[in-house]
Amino acid sequence: MSSENSAIIIGGGLAGLVAAYELSQRKIPSIIIDQENDGNLGGQAFWSLGGIFIVNSAEQRRLGIKDSKELALADWMNTAKFDREKEDYWPRQWAKAFVDFAADGMEEYVKGRGMGFVGSVGWAERGGGSASGHGNSVPRFHLTWGTGPEVVRVFEEPVRAAAKEGLITFKFRHRVDRLLLDDSGAAIGVQGCILEPSDVVRGASSSRKEVDKFTLYGSAILVSSGGIGGNVSLVQKNWPTDRLGPSVPKNFVVGVPAHVDGRMLEIAEDAGANIVNADRMWHYTEGLQNWDPIWPMHGIRVIPGPSSMWLDATGKRLPPFLYPGCDTLATLKHICSTGHDYTWFVLNKTIIQREFGLSGSEQNPDVTGKSWYLLLWRILGSNPPVESFMNHGKDFVVRSTLPELVEGMNILAKQADGPALDLDTVRREIDIRDAQVDNKYTKDAQLMLINNARNYFPDKISRVAKPHKLLDHKHGPLIAVKMNLLTRKSLGGLETDLDANVRRPDGSKFPNLYAAGEVAGFGGGGVHGYSSLEGTFLGGCIFSGRTAGIAISEQLSKQFST
Ligand SMILES: Cc1cc2nc3c(=O)[nH]c(=O)nc-3n(C[C@H](O)[C@H](O)[C@H](O)COP(=O)(O)OP(=O)(O)OC[C@H]3O[C@@H](n4cnc5c(N)ncnc54)[C@H](O)[C@@H]3O)c2cc1C
Repeated sequence: MSSENSAIIIGGGLAGLVAAYELSQRKIPSIIIDQENDGNLGGQAFWSLGGIFIVNSAEQRRLGIKDSKELALADWMNTAKFDREKEDYWPRQWAKAFVDFAADGMEEYVKGRGMGFVGSVGWAERGGGSASGHGNSVPRFHLTWGTGPEVVRVFEEPVRAAAKEGLITFKFRHRVDRLLLDDSGAAIGVQGCILEPSDVVRGASSSRKEVDKFTLYGSAILVSSGGIGGNVSLVQKNWPTDRLGPSVPKNFVVGVPAHVDGRMLEIAEDAGANIVNADRMWHYTEGLQNWDPIWPMHGIRVIPGPSSMWLDATGKRLPPFLYPGCDTLATLKHICSTGHDYTWFVLNKTIIQREFGLSGSEQNPDVTGKSWYLLLWRILGSNPPVESFMNHGKDFVVRSTLPELVEGMNILAKQADGPALDLDTVRREIDIRDAQVDNKYTKDAQLMLINNARNYFPDKISRVAKPHKLLDHKHGPLIAVKMNLLTRKSLGGLETDLDANVRRPDGSKFPNLYAAGEVAGFGGGGVHGYSSLEGTFLGGCIFSGRTAGIAISEQLSKQFST
C-alpha cells in the first residue's frame, strides 16, 4: 500500500497511540506526525497520574463498593448538566456511550493490554453535597499500577512493534500547519514545517525553528493534538465570564507541557471543522509552583484529602460544600468571585502526611516505579515528593505557632499583591472549627464529610486523617499552603459524531476527517458537559482513540476493497 493509502494521525499522545494501535490490529497503515521528538511519544498521558474512571470493576467489588451503569450515568448527567440544544447533541450521545464502555468494556480492554490497578479505588470529585448534583456517588478513580508511563507503555509497545513491521511510520519534529482538501471538501492530506532536531528531555519546551516544509497525503486524517491548557492566553480568551464571573484570572501555574498549545483547533476550524463548547474547561484550584520545573510555569496539582481548612485570600473559610476534593468548578467560581486568584490551605503535619497526594507520574515514584515497599512507606507517612515541596516549594509556610504561621503567610501574600491576613480572623475560623471536634457528631459539614469518608476503608487507613483539632500541638507543626489556579484540560473542541468523524458547522460530515482525545473534547466536542468526574480524560482518550481507529479502519477497508 502506498503512503497515500495510509491514515494520518496528527499527534502521538494517548488518543493518537490508541487509534494507531487499533488501525495496526486491522492491518491499516498509519503515519503518526508529532511536533515533538521521539522521546515525547505518549504526550501528556506520560505525566499523568494514571487515574481511570471505571464502573463496577473487580477492584470496586472487592472493596464492597456498589456501583452500576445506572448510578454512573446519573452522576455523569448531573455533573455534565448538558443544556445546549445543538452543541450538546453529540456530547450527550458520547456521554451515554462512554459510560456504557466504562461499565462494560474499559476494564477488560486495558487489563487485556497488560495494565493493572492499585487495589484501593480513589474517590475523586466527591460532590457538592447533593445526591442529584455534581460528583461521584462512589469511588471510581482507578490508579494505574505504574501511573502514566504504564498507560502509555501498553499502547506504545505494540505501536512500535507495528512500526518495525512497516505498518506505522513516525514523523517526529513535523508540525502540521494546514489541512489539505480536495475539490469536494474532503480531507486528503496535511502540510507543515519540519522543526530543527531537538534532544530536550521529555516535557521540556523545544525549539520552534523551522528547517524545511513537508506535504503528506493520506486516505483519512485523525486530529489527536490535545487541548489548550499549555496556552494561558487561549485559556483566558475562552474563559467563561458568564459562569465564573466577569474578571478573568491573571495568574496561573501551568499543569501541562508547552506542546498543549491548541493550535490545531484553529487549523481544523479554518479547514471547515466545527468547534463547540470552547468555553468549557477543567482547571484546578490547588496548584503549586513546581520548585523543580520541567516545562514553563510548571504547576503541580495537589490531590487533597478532605481535612485541610480552606481559606480565601482574605482569611475567610470557604462555604459548604467547597471542601478539598469535592467540586472543582464550584470552588473555582467562588475563588473568582473573591477578586483574588489564590487561596490558602491551613493544615498540620498529621494531615499533610495522610492526605496530600501530588498529581503527576514523577511525583509518585512509589506507584510509578511499581514499588510496594515505597507505597507501604507512604501509607505509613513518608512521602519524599511532598517533603521536598515543604522544604523547597515557594507556596509553603511551616511554623510552630499560629502567629508565626500567619506572619509567614503574609510574606507570600505581599509577594502576590494580595491582602494581608488578620491573625484574629484566622484564629476565629480555626477555633470555631476545632470546637466541633469534641463530639463524634457535629454540625460542621466538613467534619461530617471527613467522618463519611472514613466509612470507606481505604480512605480510613491511607487517605483521611482522624478528625482532630488543627491547633493541637501533637499534630504540628502547622502548615499553610498558598494554592494557585492551575490550567489543565479543555472540555470542548472539535464536534464529532459517534464514529469520531468531524462535523461541519452545518451538521454535515467532514469527509475523511476524524478527531479524538482532548482536541475533540474527549469525544463529540464535549462529552463532559460543564464538569468532570475525574479519570475521564485518559479514559476519554482511550475510548475516543479506539472509536476513531475502528471507524477509520472500516472506512479504509471498504475503500480499498472496492
Ligand atoms: C500532570 C497530569 C496529570 C494527569 N492525570 C490524569 C489522570 O490521572 N486521569 C485522567 O483521566 N487524566 C489525567 N490527565 C489528563 C490526560 O493525561 C490528558 O488529557 C490526555 O493525556 C490528553 O491526551 P491527547 O492524546 O488528547 O493529547 P496530548 O497528550 O496533548 O497529545 C497531543 C500530541 O499532539 C502533538 N501536536 C499538537 N499539535 C500538533 C501539530 N500541529 N502538529 C504535530 N503535532 C502536534 C503534541 O506534540 C502532542 O504530542 C493528566 C494530565 C497531566 C498533564
